[in-house]
Amino acid sequence: MSVIAVSPAVGSFCITRSAKMVSRPRVVMAVGSNTISGASILTKLQKDCATPLPVLRHVVDAMADDMRAGLAVEGGSDLKMILSYVDALPTGNEKGLFYALDLGGTNFRVLRVQLGGKEERVISTEFEQVSIPPELMFGTTEELFDFIASGLAKFAQKEGGKFHLQQGKTREIGFTFSFPVKQTSIDSGILIKWTKGFAVSGTAGKDVVACLNEAMKRQELDMRVSALVNDTVGTLAGSRYWDDDVMVAVILGTGTNACYVERVDAIPKLQDPSSTSGRTIVNTEWGAFSNGLPLTEFDQQMDAESINPCEQIFEKTISGMYLGEIVRRVLLRMAEAADLFGHSVPEKLLMPFSLRTPDICAMQQDTSKDLEEVGSVLYDVAGVNSSTNARKIVIDVCDTIAKRGGRLAGAGIVGILQKMELDSKGLIFGKRTVVAMDGGLYEHYPQYRRYLQEAVTELLGPEISRNIVIEHSKDGSGIGAALLAASNSKYGHDI
Ligand code: ADP
Ligand code: MG
Repeated sequence: MSVIAVSPAVGSFCITRSAKMVSRPRVVMAVGSNTISGASILTKLQKDCATPLPVLRHVVDAMADDMRAGLAVEGGSDLKMILSYVDALPTGNEKGLFYALDLGGTNFRVLRVQLGGKEERVISTEFEQVSIPPELMFGTTEELFDFIASGLAKFAQKEGGKFHLQQGKTREIGFTFSFPVKQTSIDSGILIKWTKGFAVSGTAGKDVVACLNEAMKRQELDMRVSALVNDTVGTLAGSRYWDDDVMVAVILGTGTNACYVERVDAIPKLQDPSSTSGRTIVNTEWGAFSNGLPLTEFDQQMDAESINPCEQIFEKTISGMYLGEIVRRVLLRMAEAADLFGHSVPEKLLMPFSLRTPDICAMQQDTSKDLEEVGSVLYDVAGVNSSTNARKIVIDVCDTIAKRGGRLAGAGIVGILQKMELDSKGLIFGKRTVVAMDGGLYEHYPQYRRYLQEAVTELLGPEISRNIVIEHSKDGSGIGAALLAASNSKYGHDI
């Protein structure tokens, strides 16, 4: 394996794309002669995962530098810094009926909202969730979009009660599409590639808004897409509706991403800086960040065996899809080399991704004396009976990986804030600035959340960190997309 070790804790292991060498986990029948202890593996893990202030500061600076490089020229950095074309954010004055469609995983959500302006705000919302038949994830573009448009048409037919469209207007929709898109305007974008298990033929290279519009026409559904948005952008818009100080949005769920409000004059690669507000939202795609992260041999192995080696390294270190898997790899090593679960290696523990992030989160909530919850998770997931001592080590492993993830996510956030602050002296750190957070990992993992906040406070110091509010976004990205349809309405604002 092509691995280079750089300084004791800060490392980069991807030197070539061909560094992929799959190492298969082996079953080792330990015979009690192991001299390595679980505790010593843990100590080394803690050392390799350590995120003292200098490591965090390095991440902050590198994140800010990478952002700048990505804004300078297309392909200038690991961070794509995708322009969202969203330069009109919700103000609270929006009025009328708007729809949203969220396609980002195995489900799609449709939503409608009746907005009543500053006084009445959200008069009413309704939503439905529809799961996508697996065969459509491997079908044709027309089949997928026809299915979505017909779901949308059925939902629109049930409109009534508090929802009403002003006469003479067409229904407008905000389309949240969480796949990599090369956006060409607020209401168009070319699909770069499908991810997350989708392999629909004929869509890559096409404008996904045109695909949806054509399907809506086939369904005789009179609706118009006014805004195509990424889920981070939807989250930012949704939070901004309630709070003018929201400047950054971060998703920590299965994957991770962040976006923020940028000045158009700070984007050299922008060809047409004709934003009316002078600002626009930039989608960082920060999951691809990799500079100076404290990585371990377990991370290296997981990456090498992944479907996208050497890519999305930040995502692989801090997001929900991977934290449980890193812990599993450490526990497997402890079982093989240090008899953590007795003389044989539990077979279930050999299965990649068998330990999930919600499992390690559940174990960390166990405060009982004998750590019974830890014992039952280990039994269910790995099929082992564990001693109290082994359970304590397991908790320490979970904590080490969650701590590293949370603290690095915090450093990433400070990196974005620092970049913004340097360009606009005092406008970020000198006043209240809100970072809107969303995603299952952030929402459900209290220790992770605490480590993230601690790192932000450590990095910014007590005074500045009083101005920086990191909070869970209450509405998520769905309503944000509808609000963006409203703020980018072809009818203008009905104020
Ligand atoms: P997605 O990112 O797929 O759009 P979510 O934002 O709902 O969806 O995040 C789901 C992810 O959040 C899961 O894949 C898991 O990693 C993480 N997660 C869910 N529940 C928990 C939990 N109780 N503790 C820790 N992580 C969780
Ligand atoms: Mg999501």
